Amino acid sequence: MLEPLAHIGRDPATGGYVRDAWSAADMELREWFAGEAGRRGLDLREDRNGNLWAWWGDPSGRPGVVTGSHLDSVRQGGAYDGPLGVVSAFAALDLLKERGTTPARPVGVVCFTDEEGARFGVPCMGSRLLTGVLAPERALALTDDSGDTLADVMTKAGRAPHEVGRDDETLATVGTFVELHVEQGQALVHEGRPVGVAAAIWPHGRWRFDFHGRADHAGTTRLADRNDPMLPFARMVLAAREAAARRDVVATVGKVRVSPGNANAIPGLVSAWLDARGADEAAVRALVADLTELTDQAGATVREESWTPVVDFDVPLRERLARVAGGGTPAPVLPTGAGHDAGILASAGVPSAMLFVRNPTGVSHSPDEHAERADCEAGVVALADVLEDLCG
Ligand SMILES: [Zn+2]
Repeated sequence: MLEPLAHIGRDPATGGYVRDAWSAADMELREWFAGEAGRRGLDLREDRNGNLWAWWGDPSGRPGVVTGSHLDSVRQGGAYDGPLGVVSAFAALDLLKERGTTPARPVGVVCFTDEEGARFGVPCMGSRLLTGVLAPERALALTDDSGDTLADVMTKAGRAPHEVGRDDETLATVGTFVELHVEQGQALVHEGRPVGVAAAIWPHGRWRFDFHGRADHAGTTRLADRNDPMLPFARMVLAAREAAARRDVVATVGKVRVSPGNANAIPGLVSAWLDARGADEAAVRALVADLTELTDQAGATVREESWTPVVDFDVPLRERLARVAGGGTPAPVLPTGAGHDAGILASAGVPSAMLFVRNPTGVSHSPDEHAERADCEAGVVALADVLEDLCG
């Protein structure tokens, strides 16, 4: 099943994937999902926020057990982050059918919209809108690099943006959610195990820093006369690294927009996005406060674009998963620094859990992201066992 996805949104120059929400690639991925649902005789639904659901059994009477992930990608991402969870979900259903299992509860496969936030800057957009933690007005007004709002983009895709927002009817169909995901680290390599279970998701957030200056000529403006926003920006990047080391968290500036962006001009505006995470929420907040204080002096403005508090997955559920997915010896339970839709659902009170599949290099959000076929298959078996157990 990964094979027909391999060419969609692939940049031939780098081998990386660009699969922004509501782009042509995303539409192709949605069609693939619909095809897989149809081939299995599942009931396909798209909710008001663009998330796709394929049901085996009718969840209107009794909430079901849902599994799945997302199909969008970070820019220049790998083949597994997201798609492995969706493909494994369909494969686990196939395995249950092969075993002759008739689940006592409905089983659903979900594909969440815009998990990575590559286009509009806010991750887990589909699950945040579904659960109501992101206000529809705020989401619809977000703009992409070409200045199109989410509302414009959804309208162009034939969707109804005025209908986005908390969706209790859809939420009520999800009794339990289990997301399988490629591991974004090497804990399973060190454990020597193909499959693990998530313990918690670190608190994490994104902040936008705007450094304002005065655009001017790079040759004729004396150094003393300049107001160059690149300098306080550079200080912020170095300070972020230093504060992260001091406070035992991680901080990254991975996206910068320089305006007007001429090689021979002093910029007028530098916008930079800080991503900060860590096991300790107070330490992450303290790092952002350090940087806000530093950049305040340079007249920069700081805006929090997203914040997700720590998510501790339901302990009995994760212990049950570890027991069932471990095949004899309980699967290792691991913390993670990456955000996921399962975290958003867990925070909204949906019993949720995650399975991780070993990643030999630990590399993720890069074309080098990989999982061995045998480990992917072990993931499918573990997921099928978990579904069977939860549905029993
Ligand atoms: Zn992911």
